[in-house]
Amino acid sequence: MGARDGDRGLPTAVARFAPSLQDRRRVQWALGLSLILVLILAPFATLPLRRMDVLQPAFEGWSIFAEAMMATLLFSQFSVVKSPGLLVLGCGCILTALTALGMMLSTPLSGSAFSSGAADAGWFFLMWMASFPLTALIYSSLRGAQGLVRVNSGGPADLKTWHAVAGVGGVLALFLALLLGGVALVAIAPPLYANGQATVAGKLAFSAVFGVALLALVRCMRRRPRTLLDGWVIISLGAWLFSAVISGVMSRTDFDLAWYVGRAYGAICSALLVVILAVEYANQQRRAFEMHSALMASNEALRHLSRHDALTGLPNRRYFDTHLEQQYAVMRRYRRTLAVVIFDVDGFKGYNDTFGHQAGDICLARIGRALQSCCRRATDLAARYGGEEFAFVLPETDLAAAMRVAEMAREAVEALAIPQGPGAPRSCVTVSAGVAVYDGRDLTSIEGVVAAADEALFHAKSRGRNRVASQSLNPARTRSALPVPPKLRAV
Ligand code: GH3
Ligand code: MG
Ligand code: MG
Repeated sequence: MGARDGDRGLPTAVARFAPSLQDRRRVQWALGLSLILVLILAPFATLPLRRMDVLQPAFEGWSIFAEAMMATLLFSQFSVVKSPGLLVLGCGCILTALTALGMMLSTPLSGSAFSSGAADAGWFFLMWMASFPLTALIYSSLRGAQGLVRVNSGGPADLKTWHAVAGVGGVLALFLALLLGGVALVAIAPPLYANGQATVAGKLAFSAVFGVALLALVRCMRRRPRTLLDGWVIISLGAWLFSAVISGVMSRTDFDLAWYVGRAYGAICSALLVVILAVEYANQQRRAFEMHSALMASNEALRHLSRHDALTGLPNRRYFDTHLEQQYAVMRRYRRTLAVVIFDVDGFKGYNDTFGHQAGDICLARIGRALQSCCRRATDLAARYGGEEFAFVLPETDLAAAMRVAEMAREAVEALAIPQGPGAPRSCVTVSAGVAVYDGRDLTSIEGVVAAADEALFHAKSRGRNRVASQSLNPARTRSALPVPPKLRAV
């Protein structure tokens, strides 16, 4: 039941995935192969083999390990999606591991528990056998709560972490109760095994457990919509039933061929289930990582788009405003100068009228690049301020330096020598610039600085264009006249 990527998109837990066709095929294959194994084994099932006492505790040890691994993986899935199904199965795995531990401790190492007449081992064996079918039965009854929920959403069926803690606590309490109850039961109840054979009571008890497993299997198979986790439970139940048929029905005595095959089959199935769950979990992690990377990349692209102008590639007005506000706060804090320069392309309407808007766009992009090349310091910023207007933010720049930078930028545009149409007052495209400098001491607001630069630009235009003009800050535009951000007031 490995994960495919395209069909799921979002990473989420197995409790919420719908199984793909491939998953369903794998379930069918697993059940089909198990059936073939049973059919091949049938004629030789009772073939006696050499007794290997060490195998019994080895199988039990493996069961404890596999169930503990499965519980770990299921609870880690539960930490992602708080699904009741995952909690029930995780708790079931803990119970199975505990009963396997009990069985291992009550089995005399010198021989089979049941031929040695250890009655309590028989009860532990029953508990161990019953724990998974009962878990699956409870799981299959979670129908409404376990259905497909929107991926990664906090569905109504979602539990809280304390449910998991309560669940594990409940399992430990149940195990303790079974332990004590089992000890009391052994004293009064008939033995489940006698002389290596199941007694009538044993046959009845194991048949009941077999019936529970069958019922859980039917209920899981009838669930709609089915999740990947349902498929996992179906495979586990199928494996459990086949294992029970091989070692409980086909095997006549301990250490015959069916006995060995049944135990080996059980061990292989639980190993495979652990691997499947671990692979699914690893795939989930990979998908989450890939999605995270893609998300980061698209976030970065969006951030860039939201802050830059598509035509010129320069920072846009929003970026300009933010940068200016930040630099203003810093310059005001350290009493340093801050220059703002606003450029406007001269007679650009005429250029558009002569050469068309497309040519106008190309012209603007070239002017943008030329202007940007004049912003040399890391904190300088050249932005597209409006249609055919550009602006510089020049921190720690006094009036003389700002005038030099603005003049250099004007010359850079002129040096492009983009021809104007016939009848234009100048032979090539030029810009006018207005400069205003905040000295870091007075109370003029950012808006006041920008307004002063705009006024300077107006003077440059009215004095004949293709020139740079400056404007001192208007003392009327003090902070008291304009709204003051609360943060700045304290500075
Ligand atoms: P001046 O600034 O020298 O007073 O004259 P002007 O002709 O440049 O003045 P005005 O502000 O009236 O015209 C600006 C023109 O810039 C109008 C508009 O068509 C053009 N413009 C603004 N944004 C763009 C743009 O993104 N692409 C193009 N091609 N043209 C633009
Ligand atoms: Mg304009
Ligand atoms: Mg203009």
